Amino acid sequence: MTTTFVQNHAFFNDLAAPLTGELLIPDDAAYEQVRHLWNGKVKTQPAAIVRCLTVQDVIHTVRWTRTHGLPLSVRGGGHDFAGRALSENGVTIDLSQMRAVTIDPDARTAHVQGGATAGDLIEAAERYGLATATATISSVGMSGFTLGGGYGPLTGAYGLGADNLLSAQVVTANGQLVTANAQEHPDLLWGLRGGGGNFGVVVSLEYRLHPLTTVLAGLLLYPLEQARAVLHRFNEFIAAAPDELTIPSGFLQMPDGQTVLFLSPTYCGLLEAGEQAIAPLRTFGKLLVDRVQPVTYNALIHGQDALAPEGRHYYIQTQSLNGLQTETIEVLIEQGLPLSSPFSLIELHNFHGAASRVGVSETAFALRQDHLTVQMIAAWEPQSPDEEQRHIQWAQNISQVLAPYAFKWGYINALDEKEQERVPLAFGPNYQRLLDLKRTYDPDDVFSSTIGHLVA
Ligand SMILES: Cc1cc2nc3c(=O)[nH]c(=O)nc-3n(C[C@H](O)[C@H](O)[C@H](O)COP(=O)(O)OP(=O)(O)OC[C@H]3O[C@@H](n4cnc5c(N)ncnc54)[C@H](O)[C@@H]3O)c2cc1C
Repeated sequence: MTTTFVQNHAFFNDLAAPLTGELLIPDDAAYEQVRHLWNGKVKTQPAAIVRCLTVQDVIHTVRWTRTHGLPLSVRGGGHDFAGRALSENGVTIDLSQMRAVTIDPDARTAHVQGGATAGDLIEAAERYGLATATATISSVGMSGFTLGGGYGPLTGAYGLGADNLLSAQVVTANGQLVTANAQEHPDLLWGLRGGGGNFGVVVSLEYRLHPLTTVLAGLLLYPLEQARAVLHRFNEFIAAAPDELTIPSGFLQMPDGQTVLFLSPTYCGLLEAGEQAIAPLRTFGKLLVDRVQPVTYNALIHGQDALAPEGRHYYIQTQSLNGLQTETIEVLIEQGLPLSSPFSLIELHNFHGAASRVGVSETAFALRQDHLTVQMIAAWEPQSPDEEQRHIQWAQNISQVLAPYAFKWGYINALDEKEQERVPLAFGPNYQRLLDLKRTYDPDDVFSSTIGHLVA
């Protein structure tokens, strides 16, 4: 495909004409602003971006794009580190204007459109004293998060985002709108719960909600020289932690330049019980900062947004560990520090409780034993592109040194596009079933965000 023909508006006339939404090509003034993703490093240029407003827009765009043999991609919240929401010289279905959320407080369910973010859902549900499993940052798309699994501060109590997905409406590769729930297309619902964006355009998702407004949460910061001792005690602690308490942790740099170990507990049960549950964490070392306090779930998630501003350049590597042993603690400290920049961080997601009690084959998400998913997130300012390799190597190096101690499994939402060989391992015993599902719903590999090109 050549850029000459893709720049031509006339070529897209039939695509644009029936749309309620808008079609943008690189010549259009608004194109670059709409094209850019959260990760400023992603420069992929679709031939056209269709800003869909209706399900009919999505159906028409899928059919048109297939008829014309162009690559197709789907943009939900636009937060994939690798930028899989865009395809070079293809057509992007942009759902970022389809973000409506409807709450049924009696049924305790939420219906969200395919472009809704965590913040959209949290704010709508909060009005009814309800919440569900979301990412730690408000701007992350619910679709991509859920399709890949979805770790968060409520994992122990309510499971993954995918575990709370009750049904979905999907525009499949042949342009049909299908409902996936326990009665209709249950196989598709199984695949959407952690199997990645591989089976169609998810135009709406239905979630189970839980009564929740206030959590006991915030940051505990420890000086680096205490990191080894604190992490050993942390490892023992999380093995017996109640479901209500989930504790992301890791290393970050403070504004004063000091790198610290953070524990970020969220307790989502009764506050008094939470104070007791969290108390031991405060004795693990001499705390530099203790910001754990009652806070709304909404405020907690929005309060973390500043950690991951849009537009910086980012690169991620991931490994999943069966807890922390002396060797892995040494790798994190000796290889991980100093962090590659003031904005880089190492984060460990705490998977346990309700999430671990789901059977391996119940959903596409396969790693169902307690574990820590480690994310090495390199971040740097766009003004320093020459530094890119150094940041990438920092993340790759820690990942490589951790690998011998890690599960073969890797969280698909954090796999790099060059790590396709890890995809079958990521799905483990569920991989073959996912390939069968792919043959049923997308035999021509239209939606290839994670497992597509591995179809036999
Ligand atoms: C700042 C930040 C914080 C994060 N925090 C967490 C966290 O706490 N827990 C966690 O588990 N993950 C987290 N992630 C990872 C995140 O879950 C994934 O990057 C996820 O894919 C983002 O979804 P999105 O819709 O925003 O992204 P997009 O880039 O829009 O989409 C990601 C992938 O899903 C596909 N997709 C998106 N929407 C649809 C749809 N409606 N139908 C079909 N396919 C679709 C896309 O084509 C693409 O392949 C975080 C990421 C970032 C950048």
